[in-house]
Amino acid sequence: MFPSVNRASTEYVRTREEKILRKRRAGLLVLFGVLPLTIGAGIALAQGGGMATAQLEDADGNPVGEATFTEGPNGITINANLQPGQDAAGPGAHGVHIHETGETSPDFEAAGEHFNPSGAQHGLENPEGPHAGDLEDIVVNEDGSASYQTLTNRVTLSGGENSILDSDGSTLIIHAGSDDQETDPSGESGGRVIAGVIRASQTGESTTPAGKKDLPKSGGTNVLLPAALGAISVVILGGGVLIRQLRRT
Ligand code: ZN
Repeated sequence: MFPSVNRASTEYVRTREEKILRKRRAGLLVLFGVLPLTIGAGIALAQGGGMATAQLEDADGNPVGEATFTEGPNGITINANLQPGQDAAGPGAHGVHIHETGETSPDFEAAGEHFNPSGAQHGLENPEGPHAGDLEDIVVNEDGSASYQTLTNRVTLSGGENSILDSDGSTLIIHAGSDDQETDPSGESGGRVIAGVIRASQTGESTTPAGKKDLPKSGGTNVLLPAALGAISVVILGGGVLIRQLRRT
């Protein structure tokens, strides 16, 4: 017999299988990851607004969630998700603010005060307020997860003094306690427990570092619903491609 030929042909088969597997994996990544995000971003851009994202981290730099900022005709829709199991922000209500500087190093104090270009006082219920960066509380579930959506017309992603993408940037911060929406300068919301620098994202690409699992998206209607519809149609189209690939093997 010719063992060397057999070995070679076995290796050939294995290599071919690996190639097919790799192709399938790449196909799935495109189907479920890249395309829905791209479609969502495209729709957001078509609506006339920009997008930004913030990778949310705890004080030790561990990723705990993600926030997206989508500019539309009525202002900026902010979606924030915290992943189950995170314990930087415990169950219950926590103050959320856009802070004036896009910096979280050496610690979250580097982000400065609440974004406040008009010199107002703090709090959505303060007669002399609010700061442009003041937002409603986020409510964290028992398992650490949270899904938050709010709309604000006090900031923009485009130009002007209310732009949160100004030259020194800005940071989304979640505080240890709830915000009384009245007490200047920070609503007695306590220490800064989660933060993420807000970065422009014209492509809608996730800022999640490679190798980290993307967080489940929920709650958004501006981008996520069209993205989901896009994903469904892509799955139908892509399913055909996958089936053809399977038949070829
Ligand atoms: Zn404030």
